[in-house]
Amino acid sequence: MKVVFLADVSDEAQRQVVEIIKDLMRQLKVPLEAVDAILIASESRYGESITALEPGAAFTQSSEYTGFGKTIPRRADGVTRSSIVLREELVKSTSIQRGKSVPPFVREMCRYVMAHELGHALDNTKRTWVKTVLPRVDEQFSLRKVADYYHQILLSEFAACALAGPAMTRAVFKHEVGQFATELANTSRRLRDEKAQYDAGDLSLFSLAHSAAGRTWFLLIQYAKLVGSLQANQALGELREALPAAPDLIGRIVQEFSDDLADHWTRYPAWEDWTPQVVLPIWSDLAGVHGFGFEETPEGDLIHIDL
Ligand SMILES: [Zn+2]
Repeated sequence: MKVVFLADVSDEAQRQVVEIIKDLMRQLKVPLEAVDAILIASESRYGESITALEPGAAFTQSSEYTGFGKTIPRRADGVTRSSIVLREELVKSTSIQRGKSVPPFVREMCRYVMAHELGHALDNTKRTWVKTVLPRVDEQFSLRKVADYYHQILLSEFAACALAGPAMTRAVFKHEVGQFATELANTSRRLRDEKAQYDAGDLSLFSLAHSAAGRTWFLLIQYAKLVGSLQANQALGELREALPAAPDLIGRIVQEFSDDLADHWTRYPAWEDWTPQVVLPIWSDLAGVHGFGFEETPEGDLIHIDL
């Protein structure tokens, strides 16, 4: 395993980062052979580093969300080894650069982001990632294809969070719970806005269907990440009450989902029977709360919208 700096990082900071990575690998029991390389890339080289490892790879970089790391598996001779690309910003915050001290929470957060990516690398050695593609918005809407795509992400994120759980701290977890509560509120607001845009003729039905489906899946993924962290970290147990941090109806839905997730964790990594169909009823309930109903029919999928 090698750590490569594609950024202007001081020798002292480089040394600190390598120490943190080694420490995390010991803590999370990530074997050295699970990781091919860790690349720490400057802002301008982050995207290109990812696409060099996986042409056409998607990485989170939108006005709403920014990813701090990406783990890319490569399977050769029956062994899966991952490469991890991290943003330089993470390293700058982790170490003491140019005499500036970093608040403990920021350090904890940065350390956890690294742990999370190592969790993905470990998961990649235990399960095979099934590559699925999100249907384009201009294609016919397919409930099944959308579910296949997001469900793979859900499993991967849940596993990474559970495997990185020991490195999660109370402060970071509390922050993540707060983020989820904000996300819930934002999703409701954005979907209301998009329904109004559709109603006014400013948004196509396909776009609305994709957005409603995607945003609902995204909430489930974010929630699964929180539940994942709780699986392997007893110290976070008392923060469990912070979940679901949601209004009554959504609270009940996510509680049911929590139980389902915890149950699946006991069977990890034998998740062959954990298909999108298992999650679809919960996804459908959550979409229903936001005034969307989806239905699969032989003639094509239907969407019902409460305007
Ligand atoms: Zn992740």
